[in-house]
Amino acid sequence: MATATAPRKSTPAIKQTKHLINNEWVASSDGGKFETFNPATGEVIAEVSAGTAADIDRAVKAARRAVETGPWNKMDAADRGRLLFKLAELVDANAEELSMLESLNSGKTIGDSQGDIAGVANCLRYYAGWADKIEGRTVPVRGNFLSYTLRQPVGVVGQIIPWNFPCAMLAWKWGPALACGNAIVMKPAEQTPLTALIMGRLAMEAGFPAGVINLVNGMGETAGAALCTHPDVDKIAFTGHVDTAKIIQKATADTLKRTSYELGGKSPNVIFADANIDDAVEGAFHAIYFHGGQCCTAGSRLFVEEKLRDEFVEKLAKKAKGRRVGDPMDPATQQGPQVSQEQMDKILGYVALGQKQGAKLVTGGQRVGDRGFFVEPTIFDGVKDEMAIATDEIFGPVVSVLPFKNFDEMLERANRTHYGLAAAIWTKDIDKAHLYAKQVKAGTVWVNCYHVVDTTTPFGGFKMSGHGRENGEAALDLYTELKTVTVKLNP
Ligand code: ADP
Repeated sequence: MATATAPRKSTPAIKQTKHLINNEWVASSDGGKFETFNPATGEVIAEVSAGTAADIDRAVKAARRAVETGPWNKMDAADRGRLLFKLAELVDANAEELSMLESLNSGKTIGDSQGDIAGVANCLRYYAGWADKIEGRTVPVRGNFLSYTLRQPVGVVGQIIPWNFPCAMLAWKWGPALACGNAIVMKPAEQTPLTALIMGRLAMEAGFPAGVINLVNGMGETAGAALCTHPDVDKIAFTGHVDTAKIIQKATADTLKRTSYELGGKSPNVIFADANIDDAVEGAFHAIYFHGGQCCTAGSRLFVEEKLRDEFVEKLAKKAKGRRVGDPMDPATQQGPQVSQEQMDKILGYVALGQKQGAKLVTGGQRVGDRGFFVEPTIFDGVKDEMAIATDEIFGPVVSVLPFKNFDEMLERANRTHYGLAAAIWTKDIDKAHLYAKQVKAGTVWVNCYHVVDTTTPFGGFKMSGHGRENGEAALDLYTELKTVTVKLNP
């Protein structure tokens, strides 16, 4: 049985709960608020302003002014980089407040939050370095012309982010957008609005001019939807559920906005019998249970070579049973709560469905305790490819073991999904490793490792896991328009 530790009482102070528009903290146009929770206890920790279409409009107008006429518009690229560097330093200086609040509001373990916040600073620093290196080209056109390209900001970008990595997702979106000179209207997830607001405070402290960074809190169906249909928003960058992306794709059609999406996955994690088995068990464990499975790259389809299956499942189950599930603020905790009652209920619903459809529940499957939203690390064996637990993104600590006999069969099954975000393989055979890496349909492939994501490397999905790539140089393409300038040269 996974063990539950009691939630601690100490909580960080919550100072910001309003929207940040034009470098001012403002309440909603209609005074509306929504409650945000501590998922470890289910208790309300703050009331946050709930954005309306009027709030979005106000933020978009501020962003438009900033990008067209404000000091941001005239600022040297190097100085945009300096502001991003400054913000990264402030993130480091305020890392304790940020990570405590991240854990309080999202249920992430404190160790994971500290790692995320260090990653936020790294991401901002990386894009700070890009700000004055975003270059066009000269092009050897036919005739007496000089042609060159300019890379210019897209303009006002709407950014909508989810609750699983609240501050990290913010950084992935702010970093490249700001390096390229855009102005931002961001809507954080309604479940986890708090750290974004701290970041807003730090952005003002760093010296970002009014209107460059705006934050409107609230629900997806109201504030998020208003951002997607606003005629003066040039682009929407979205991370979240594939069904929401479909709504956004339709909502942005009338104004033909640029869009980029980072969506879900049902990632195949493949274990061959020739792998280092202990490393592979550790890797498969981390792949699914990191952040309680609330990870778009979670290794939720565990393909295990048939002859290794019993030994592997036994070792994995032993580790799962020993996982410490409990108070995210306790450094000894390995897995915190799921983010919300809704998510917990969804996960437990899938566990029931897995059993109903005939999969074998090896371990877990229960709620832990009766307070907060904790779920046991869960393993299903004997899973068939077409069962719901093997096809749907559960977004929880539930892994499906899918035995396979040979490479070709495994590859065909691994690719038989609408998703294509990540994939992994564990083997000592370099032929198998590279053949898989080449043929699996996924934006990220890990060989003998899992969840290694770095600011410097492109990240995104094949198929319905997304459009576009975040991180690395690739993200600059999401936030720039390419302009061709041609000059007649009179000899
Ligand atoms: P999750 O299942 O991870 O909560 P969602 O896609 O529902 O994923 O949420 C991700 C983000 O999308 C959140 O900020 C949410 O408020 C926002 N969102 C949800 N519905 C819409 C919508 N119709 N239009 C715009 N944004 C939305």
